[in-house]
Amino acid sequence: MALPQRRTDIGPPHYKDFLPPVIQKNYGDWKYHEVLSPGVMVHVANSGDKIWSVRVASPRLLSTDTIRDLADIAEKYCGGYIRWTTRNNVEFLVSDEKNLEPLQNELKQKKYMMGGIGSRISNIVHTQGWIHCHSAASDASGLVKVLMDEFADYFTTKETPNKVRMAVACCVNMCGAVHCSDIAVVAVHRKVPTIDHDKVKNMCEVPSTIAACPTGAISPDPAKKSVKINADKCMYCGNCFTVCPPIEIHDPEYDGVAIVVGGKVGNLRSNPKFSKLAVPFIKNNPPRWPEVTSTVRKILDAYVADAKKHERVGEWIERIGWEKFFKVTGLPFTFQHIDDFVIARETFRTAATFKW
Ligand code: SF4
Ligand code: SF4
Repeated sequence: MALPQRRTDIGPPHYKDFLPPVIQKNYGDWKYHEVLSPGVMVHVANSGDKIWSVRVASPRLLSTDTIRDLADIAEKYCGGYIRWTTRNNVEFLVSDEKNLEPLQNELKQKKYMMGGIGSRISNIVHTQGWIHCHSAASDASGLVKVLMDEFADYFTTKETPNKVRMAVACCVNMCGAVHCSDIAVVAVHRKVPTIDHDKVKNMCEVPSTIAACPTGAISPDPAKKSVKINADKCMYCGNCFTVCPPIEIHDPEYDGVAIVVGGKVGNLRSNPKFSKLAVPFIKNNPPRWPEVTSTVRKILDAYVADAKKHERVGEWIERIGWEKFFKVTGLPFTFQHIDDFVIARETFRTAATFKW
């Protein structure tokens, strides 16, 4: 007897099952799109069909009440079609033009912040932070809150030369998008972890702890039934702490953030780029991190003042040169900016050729 067909690994449902009918019908057959206002964009198909996206910011960590409210609004004006972008913007997909204005009125009345489309800052993507992740060197949620407060006008009204993607990650393991964002904050530990040997021998698996270290800095310490760390090889990533909590990485004096700039995913006009170091360290100063917001402002202001239309942050810096980037932003150039390994020319220039 033939067995009924079973799907044992169903995975996520196929995204096409969730597309609005207008997108299903015109899939791959679009004529153009146009940004109508900071929070509204229209896509026009070759058939003449249109679909409008209305974007609002989200605090990313959402209460069920807020999610229910967003879903109810989507049900009311766009047949339930709503999506979260990779950077946690919330977009309502409106197929009927007559619903566009009432939707915007309700969003305004409920104080949702509309914007983020086109040449401006969109919602900031971020990782977890002190509440949700044990290896965090800073609080991603708190940093995003203060950055969004500081730059809200660049979401709602003001323009930048091209889109500015911002990201925050709370450790260098970086489950956010800081490596490919225009301006990004990445939290860093700066000390070799300390080891509580008594606890290691009772709480940790030595082989998996050794295997967790990406630089091979951890080796067995049989006498103590524990492990030891070669400090010269340690890059303070905190992976060992993740698998073995008695290897403590946190330090309130030494933890803080670095700022990296110039990354992008898109290949329009120039290749995708990795972000590069702009500021090696700013000490944590919660709850408002004023030194971080003022530093990001320096970078953003210089970019807005100096970049040509359509230049992304990384393209602007490459055109003016990294030497000038440090001059126009007023950020100090430090020894941490100098790469002395083989691929130096692919990142910063070497010390010998850097023209200050
Ligand atoms: Fe945890 Fe690091 Fe990801 Fe933050 S970036 S959530 S600390 S792994
Ligand atoms: Fe290895 Fe990272 Fe632990 Fe240092 S912090 S010992 S590099 S796993």
